[in-house]
Amino acid sequence: MPDTSYDLVVIGSGPGGYVAAIRAAQLGLKVAIVEREALGGVCLNVGCIPSKALIHSASLFREGKAALEAAGAKVDLSGFDYAAVWRGSRKAADRLSKGVGFLLKKNGVEVLKGEAKLEGPRQVGVTGIGRVDAAAIILATGSRPKTVPGFEFDEATVLSSTGALMADSLPRRLIVLGAGAIGMETAFVMNAFGVDVTVVELMERVLPLEDAESAALVAKEFQRRGVKLLTGMKASRLERGASGVVLALSDREGAESSVEADRILVAIGRTPNTEGLGLEEIGIRLERGFVPVGAWQETQVAGVYAIGDIVSTPLLAHVASKEGEIAAERIAQLLKEGPAPAETHVDPLLVPNAVYCEPELASFGLSEERAIAAGRPHRVARFPYRGVGKAVATERPDGQAKLVLDPATGAILGASIVGAEATELVHELLVAARAELRLEDLADAIHAHPTLSELVMETARAGLGRAIHA
Ligand code: FAD
Repeated sequence: MPDTSYDLVVIGSGPGGYVAAIRAAQLGLKVAIVEREALGGVCLNVGCIPSKALIHSASLFREGKAALEAAGAKVDLSGFDYAAVWRGSRKAADRLSKGVGFLLKKNGVEVLKGEAKLEGPRQVGVTGIGRVDAAAIILATGSRPKTVPGFEFDEATVLSSTGALMADSLPRRLIVLGAGAIGMETAFVMNAFGVDVTVVELMERVLPLEDAESAALVAKEFQRRGVKLLTGMKASRLERGASGVVLALSDREGAESSVEADRILVAIGRTPNTEGLGLEEIGIRLERGFVPVGAWQETQVAGVYAIGDIVSTPLLAHVASKEGEIAAERIAQLLKEGPAPAETHVDPLLVPNAVYCEPELASFGLSEERAIAAGRPHRVARFPYRGVGKAVATERPDGQAKLVLDPATGAILGASIVGAEATELVHELLVAARAELRLEDLADAIHAHPTLSELVMETARAGLGRAIHA
């Protein structure tokens, strides 16, 4: 039986919950974290980590094969076993989940295994354990794959992202419904391993939330590799048969068609885990299923905080972690008279978005379309990868970086990079935007040659009208 009274009880151990628990413990609070499944939440177990492990394997597989063939070798794939690749992704997930357990222990956070439900604004009931008291509570219960009637998951032929990540075999043909980050990353992996992939998207283009020019470059590369992209298509009906599925489609004009496959991944969004938690009973009213929060992630009920995928900020691991840190620091400030958190909330314009397919796409802030739609005065600076020596030397010359700038001050309002290592390169621009650096600071900082980081320097130089290699 654990102690029954804590300064803070965190419900859910995803990247929001475990970071909040550790930060609060570092600040001297007595903390417990409740988890009903594996430590690390969706991100570590059935999200970011195993998906990136598979993407890494898919890239090596594709590039290794291409490099050998380019050098005249005959590549013999007999004996190829996807289950071995898949086991590698599970190993990465398990290792990091154990790592979270280690970090929690090291910081003195008590782990309560069970399902939590609020029994009052200061009480949490945990299955198998009973009631624990808390001076403050952080809700970090995350989200699950969204489904719609007729498209319910059976995880055999109709897969959620979890089912797709837990499958240890490849289909011959796969339909991916939804061309957001999860859909496009899965399509990349499956295509690299030789699966016949069709992506179906309701909007007119893939990655509809990203800069249109960048998304078009991803689409072009996917098509070049043989992925079929059906955009502007409504999935109207799904038929399940013994040998797979048939998806009925209609376009904007109402013309009907269909596509067949062995399996379908339904990746059309996520639903917050807010049911059955006892929220309404303590006075928290949901908005479209999400928990509304104010400054420091505090809900309508004082002392109860909510972070991560259950609030309506972008459903991303790094957003969950930052919100966890803000809430933990606020609670420590109130309970231990600690320093105030540096921020009251996550600034949505400084949240990086990353899509890890090939080519990678990473962005933050205002896109050109959004600046136009909002009537925001702006100008755009671009620089192509082919002007960067390292990109050419390493045979990755496709793509570009694009900045949206304030025309008066040159301040960075947004950025979108599509191409090799974009998800790493974007952070130099993000730090510059956050620190309100001038374009000159990026342009005049000497960047090692040859590096892909020279792309950032040259894009800043392009913004100043003095790019050298374009
Ligand atoms: P979660 O990670 O969802 O964790 C919530 C935890 O709470 C779970 O472990 C759950 O078991 C537990 N829980 C829920 N209810 C209770 C209860 N009543 N009692 C006890 N425990 C409970 N984001 C990125 O930033 N980068 C990526 O590359 C990325 N890739 C992704 C790939 C996939 C396939 C998916 C599905 C998601 C991906 N995401 C990515 C999104 C990311 O995983 C989530 O944004 C992140 O996990 C949210 O963290 P969280 O702490 O809010 O909740």
